[in-house]
Amino acid sequence: MIEIKNILKSYPSGQSRLEVLKGIDLNIGKGELVSIMGSSGSGKSTLLNILGILDDYDSGEYYLNGKLIKDLKQKEAAFYRNQYLGFVFQSFNLLPFKTAVENVALPLYYRQVDRKERQALALEYLDMVGLKDWATHLPSEMSGGQQQRVAIARAIIGQPKVILADEPTGALDTDTSYQVMEIFKNLNKQGMTIIIVTHEPDIAALTDKIIHIKDGLIEGIENRKEEVKKLINVPMGMAV
Ligand code: ADP
Ligand code: MG
Repeated sequence: MIEIKNILKSYPSGQSRLEVLKGIDLNIGKGELVSIMGSSGSGKSTLLNILGILDDYDSGEYYLNGKLIKDLKQKEAAFYRNQYLGFVFQSFNLLPFKTAVENVALPLYYRQVDRKERQALALEYLDMVGLKDWATHLPSEMSGGQQQRVAIARAIIGQPKVILADEPTGALDTDTSYQVMEIFKNLNKQGMTIIIVTHEPDIAALTDKIIHIKDGLIEGIENRKEEVKKLINVPMGMAV
């Protein structure tokens, strides 16, 4: 689904440039539930923005579903974003003067789906995240966890192949964070590829694969699904 080869990315910094990604190689398959973990400033958001076609990179290659994503024109970038990707952010990014159902319906508006169908589908997706009764409420009337669930409904209404979430639990308390992760897990079970950026080890631990990033380089990849399988495969009587 996602294939990245030797991606370099720098930003201008005074007279010189700040190297932020220093050669990232990464493959993420269809249906994976992955986290990208690292401390603040390690380059996580930069990487996620490149994956989300929100930002360009200096060199290397990025293939999304086999298509080389490089130097795309704005219109083409928007097409691939709309077609393949759903976004969730730390700060929810809901429109404050739109109700929950209107926020969820927004991506369909840009796809020129008619009003009635937008409304019906948005209600369906709100229901999916347990918020049908909150359809006519404004974001300011909802808790952080509820707002993030609205944002998730908005991210999935266009049925993207990949969800990109940048610190989606960063503004939530522990219980609410786990509820949000539960929703991601369920979406993943339905086949959606999900990539979650986080600096919280307990959140990363809820994903199947943890990609550790440090100073713009991948430090290691932890395959947690394999670990669980290995434990299950221990012959009877040998478990400690
Ligand atoms: P993380 O998400 O892991 O905290 P970021 O990817 O946001 O890290 O940032 C990595 C580094 O790149 C930081 O040193 C940050 O200051 C710098 N950086 C990020 N975006 C920009 C930008 N638009 N212009 C200049 N420097 C940036
Ligand atoms: Mg960040």
